Amino acid sequence: MPFPVSDQPLACHTNPALFAIEDVSTTDDPRAREKATTEAKQACSGCPVVTECLKWALANPGLTPTGVWAATTKRDRKRLRRRPAIRRRTRTRLLFPPV
Ligand code: SF4
Repeated sequence: MPFPVSDQPLACHTNPALFAIEDVSTTDDPRAREKATTEAKQACSGCPVVTECLKWALANPGLTPTGVWAATTKRDRKRLRRRPAIRRRTRTRLLFPPV
């Protein structure tokens, strides 16, 4: 499954640092990472390809081990991948990709 494309600029491409929440230092502000997560999730919420991005992120755990993708954190994605319906769909798509 390829990463979704859009003719509009994607925030994760124009400002990738915004989505690398694990890189945010909490030395000066213990809530800095939480604030960064909220900002990244807000950026994703207006994205024209957020649904396709979520499917891509769930199907590609090796490419999305950190950061915010489709308004989800690493923990959110882990929880979603455990849901049986999503596991079935992801497995089917990996075994039988659409042509
Ligand atoms: S939803 Fe996906 S493609 Fe859109 S800004 Fe967020 S990470 Fe990028």
